[in-house]
Amino acid sequence: MTDIYLDYNGSTPIDPRVGEVVQEVYQTAIGNASAGHHLGSRAAEMVETARLQVSELIGNTPSCVRFTSGATEANNLVLQGIAEGERKERSRFLISAVEHPSVWLPAQKLTEAGKVQLEQIPVNQGGRVELSRLEEMMSEEVTLVSVVAANSETGVINPVQEAAKIAHRFGAVFHCDATQAWGRIAFDMTALGLDLVSLSGHKMNGPGGVGVLAGTKASLRKLRPALWGGGQEKGLRPGSLNVAGIVGLGRAAELVQVERAAEASRTAHLRTRFIRNLQAGLSDISENGDLRYRLPNTSNLLIKNVDAQALVAAVYPVAISAGTACHAGTPEPSPTLLAMGLSPLEADQSVRVSLGRFTTTEEIDQASDILIEEAERLRRIDS
Ligand code: PMP
Repeated sequence: MTDIYLDYNGSTPIDPRVGEVVQEVYQTAIGNASAGHHLGSRAAEMVETARLQVSELIGNTPSCVRFTSGATEANNLVLQGIAEGERKERSRFLISAVEHPSVWLPAQKLTEAGKVQLEQIPVNQGGRVELSRLEEMMSEEVTLVSVVAANSETGVINPVQEAAKIAHRFGAVFHCDATQAWGRIAFDMTALGLDLVSLSGHKMNGPGGVGVLAGTKASLRKLRPALWGGGQEKGLRPGSLNVAGIVGLGRAAELVQVERAAEASRTAHLRTRFIRNLQAGLSDISENGDLRYRLPNTSNLLIKNVDAQALVAAVYPVAISAGTACHAGTPEPSPTLLAMGLSPLEADQSVRVSLGRFTTTEEIDQASDILIEEAERLRRIDS
């Protein structure tokens, strides 16, 4: 049977139009982008075109874009950079309860090292950051507020513009991990008033191993590099540039710019069809998270009395996920779902389905049939 890929929030398949340019760069570009000769300059020009393409998608200028190896690195740069750069007697970091581990863990490590004090901004039952709680928690000692644009497990979109306003009133830097959002919803960091933004290529049909840290001039200046070496990316991220990956990322951003709106409505439509199919064939099934503020491609489903890990393994050749891929293999229930008030058992019975550019109606119908059959089978075994 052919694979049915419904795990686009884990990683997206590279678009052939992106693959084409990546391959072309591998075959034709032979210079180090920092080299002084004409081939180096040619590679550097390609990188600058990609910088422009990325900046146009996020509503900023090319000079605000620093290429990294992905969102994990961008997030770490922000957390470590603000902790090292801001010399306050007592530095508080306010981090939302639904952040990716690449935000949460560096913050925890910095706390253990005594450099900052980490505090969690709670979310409501729908999975959105509680602005009133953020407001109460704020003080002049807060140097960083970090709120994810859209959670990878639930797809729930946060009110980052309002959160950034609150952070700014107290002089804090506002960071937003927009990894899941930037290819799927309109995301203009200038209009939203965000200081620092992390992005990744492989979540928007671009290449893996490449990402972006974008920021205002003032906030980028506050950061410190995590590595030392050449002066690439204005010294913030030294190392020879991944030209092919960066060019692919630029092309992927260009495609999103043109196709996002149509793709969003197509995937939302397919998701509705999928949920209706499941609800028609399966009892005790509901969606987690605030459905009014959600990425168009994501659904987090609580299927009562069905273990999510067992279901993921059973629905071959359908690929869905229990918890985030980054948590896979970890037996603990999803911290995101727990923060929303689900019980550990409910969290363990929740699966994520995420659609994307190449998902078809036929796949949706086949996948829902398989899911219904396997969920019923697992329920029978357990009863
Ligand atoms: N942040 C979020 C919200 C994510 O979903 C992911 C990927 N699962 C990351 C950061 C890490 O991105 P990358 O794989 O590019 O390091």
